[in-house]
Formats: sequence, structure tokens, C-alpha cells
Amino acid sequence: MNTELTSPVDDYFRSHLPNQNDTGGRKWLYPRATSGRYTRWRNVVAWVLLAALFAGPFLWVDGHPLFLFNVLERRFIFFGVTFWPQDFYLVAIGLVTFVVFIALFTVVFGRVFCGWACPQTIFMEMVFRKIESWIEGDFRAKQRLDASPWTTEKILKKTTKHGVFLLISFIISNTFLAYLIGRDQLLAIILDNPANHLAGLTAMLAFTGVFYAVFAYLREIVCTTICPYGRLQSVLLDKSSLIVAYDYIRGEPRGKKLRTETEAPGIPLTPLPAPAPKGDCIDCKLCIHVCPTGIDIRNGTQMECINCTACMDVCDEVMVKVDRPLGLIRMDSQQGIETRQPFRFTTRILAYTGVLAVLIAVLAFMLLSRSALDVTVLRAPGQLFQREADGQIANLYSVEVINKTYRVLPIRFRLNNPDAKLRFVQPLTQTRPGELFKTMFFITLPEKAVHQTNTPLTLDVLSGNEVMDQIETNFLGPSN
Ligand code: SF4
Ligand code: SF4
Repeated sequence: MNTELTSPVDDYFRSHLPNQNDTGGRKWLYPRATSGRYTRWRNVVAWVLLAALFAGPFLWVDGHPLFLFNVLERRFIFFGVTFWPQDFYLVAIGLVTFVVFIALFTVVFGRVFCGWACPQTIFMEMVFRKIESWIEGDFRAKQRLDASPWTTEKILKKTTKHGVFLLISFIISNTFLAYLIGRDQLLAIILDNPANHLAGLTAMLAFTGVFYAVFAYLREIVCTTICPYGRLQSVLLDKSSLIVAYDYIRGEPRGKKLRTETEAPGIPLTPLPAPAPKGDCIDCKLCIHVCPTGIDIRNGTQMECINCTACMDVCDEVMVKVDRPLGLIRMDSQQGIETRQPFRFTTRILAYTGVLAVLIAVLAFMLLSRSALDVTVLRAPGQLFQREADGQIANLYSVEVINKTYRVLPIRFRLNNPDAKLRFVQPLTQTRPGELFKTMFFITLPEKAVHQTNTPLTLDVLSGNEVMDQIETNFLGPSN
């Protein structure tokens, strides 16, 4: 990560966290609210994502959920497609693909996911912080309230705020649980006798507590210290990655300028005499005041920056007021700032794109060629072969069948050896949706047809006339 700057700034920020005071304690941040084009777009994106998040567990298609991440039963449904423990290789490849996608996305766009799409930021900035502002007032009022003694008004405001925070945390916790255990089980926990669902209720309360602690107290610490993705930036970003960047070439040397109220309404006037000509940054520090992690982006790229673009909005407002071009803080690469060249695809980006394309192709092929029936046939342990009264040699096998679909599927087995016969211990003619069926069967061969101790056999698994799977196995016999 590059924090190089050409302007003279002190190095205090290198050794101190913005949310830490001089004695090492927590310094509470009071970010100022922003307006502007990026804030408006962030609001739109946030509300769309929130709607999708809360609707997700309740969207059902053909009587089945669209999403389910049931870790306990190891059953996952993604866009209506069910994945079983036997599909773990698909989940593993999917995760690797996702990690490469995140790496590519970060190499190109920096940490923009954190500021625009991460649930932590969306809930913090678009839900909890807004509710806090409605109850306690703007950033100055909040600061005053926290510093003031405990009056009836303060007790009322704090109680209301934390009550609402707990309620929203409870709603988030229920949604989270609905993704894990499914809509129906969640409703059962809510509507049934609590004594029958102690584990579910405990989980619900525990999640509520975690979400409340995150949004009421931890806040930016999650992004700056706990989340591992922020730490990945230092290895993923390079000079050509797009990031929220301060144009120090344009901005420095920073300093207040002499202007009339007409030229710069709302910006504090600087007393005479007029300073020497300076860069475009008027050192108003508004970009620091709006930052949810409390950093000064003018110090260069920092791990704490979540690319929320709030500083871009506020600085653009300042640039309008001082009649300078927009974009003193903008999405640009370090190279772009230094050379004024537009974004270019680097070899690294192309390499990541190539790997991602291959992974997506492999994943798509595996998903499309995935069988609806998963069948495992194993020779019964500890068994060799049996001689039957009619001169047949018999081998015993165990079979496990999983129906990965939502419909009843007929099933039958066909052996590729015309002399071989199948005899099930329990009949198996159909499998129910999502069912794991276990049984055993014998394969028999006339002794005269067994010419070796180990005869390879192929077993076709059919549903109707469609061959769903082909299983290779061995048939043990006497040595003739
Ligand atoms: S908001 Fe813009 S002008 Fe104000 S201090 Fe930040 S970079 Fe400088
Ligand atoms: S520096 Fe700007 S983009 Fe980065 S977190 Fe702070 S306000 Fe958001």
C-alpha cells in the first residue's frame, strides 16, 4: 500500500489510529452527513440491497426456497439449486471462483465493495447512523449530547435510540436465522411454545446481541481492525488500481484563500493579508469530518479507507463553492493522479481475468453436467463371495442414493454383463425429493461365467430411460 505524498504533512497518522485518543482509548467518531451525487447513488444501491437481503429467505419458487444456507444440515440452496454434502467439490470451486472474483474486483476498483455493498457499511451508514441522527440530531448535536450530563432528555434519547437499535438487530438476527434454518423453521420458533425451541431462541438472542454490539459500539472498528478483507488491500492494490484518491498535484500546497462571501458562500473567510497562491485544497477538513473511519484521505491510500466516496461528495461541494473543477478527490489510480493517464488494463488484471474465466467455465460445466441422482455403490465390508445352492456366485454391495431434485424420480439399475443378475434386499424403484436412501443388493453370476478372481462390472443407474450415472465395481469369485 502506498502512502507516499509529495506535500509536507506530519506523520502522526502513521502511528495513530483515527479513532484512538492519545492515551490509547477509543475516540468516538461523529461523521458529518453528506449529500451529493455519490451519496444519492449509494442510497439507491443500499435500499435495493437491503430489500434483496430481507426478501431473500422468503422468496420461494415451486414450493421451495430460493436461498438457504443450512450449515447444520449441510444443505445449501442457491438460486433454487440445492447442494448436498456430496456436492462439496462444487461449493469449494464456487468459493475459489468467488475469491478470485473479489481479488480481481479489488485490483481494479479497490475497496469499493466495502463502501457500497458490504452489509456492515450499509446497515451502519444507511440504517443505524440515520436513525441515530433522527433521534439525537446532526454530528454536532450528537457530540454535545454525549458530552452533556445525564438529563431527562439525554436518558430519553439514549433509551429510545438503543431500544430501536435492539429492535433492528433483532429483525436482522431473524433474517439471518431464516437464511440458515429456513422460513418455516423460523416461524415455528416464533409461533410455537418457546420451550420446544430453546436452541433456536438462544441463537436468535445471541445473533441479536452480536448485531447490536457491532452497530451500537464496534462500528468502524469492524472495518479497520476486524475485517480481514481490508487487510488484503495491501497485497491486492497497485498503482493502477482505482481508489478514492486525493489529487495532491492539484491540491497542494493546501491552505485557506482570501475570497469574498459572494465568491465562496458558506466557506470561512480568511483574514487579510491574502496568502500566496496555493493549490485547490482550501484545507477546510470537511473530507475528514465526513469520513466514517475518521481518516484524512489527503495522507494517501490508507487501509482504513472503505471507498465510501463521502469525501468525494463533500469536496465536490467545496470545489463548486470556490469555483474550481470537481474531482479534487475522485476515483482514480495513483498512476492516473501522477501521469494524468486514464485507467488501463494491466497484465495482472488480464491474468486474474483469465483465471476467473477458466474457473467460471469449469464451474458452469460441472453445474450443468451434475446428475440429479447421486449414487454410491460399495462392496459390503468384510465379505468375499458366497456360493449359492443353484451354482451361482453372489457378492453383497451397499448402495446409497440421494435424490437432489424436488420431484419423485423412478430409479433402476442395469448391469453390463448379460449373465449377471441384481437382487435387492429392500426394493428400490423410486426416490423421494431430497431423500437419502440406503439399502443393499446382491449381484450374482453363474460360477461357469466367473473366469477370474476379480471381474470388473459396470452398473448403469437409470431414471426412466435416461442413464443418470455409470458405476464401475468389482465382482469377486473363486480362482478357477
Ligand atoms: S474537502 Fe477538499 S478542499 Fe476541503 S480539505 Fe478536503 S480535500 Fe481539501
Ligand atoms: S477517506 Fe473518503 S472514501 Fe475513504 S472512508 Fe473516508 S470518506 Fe470514505
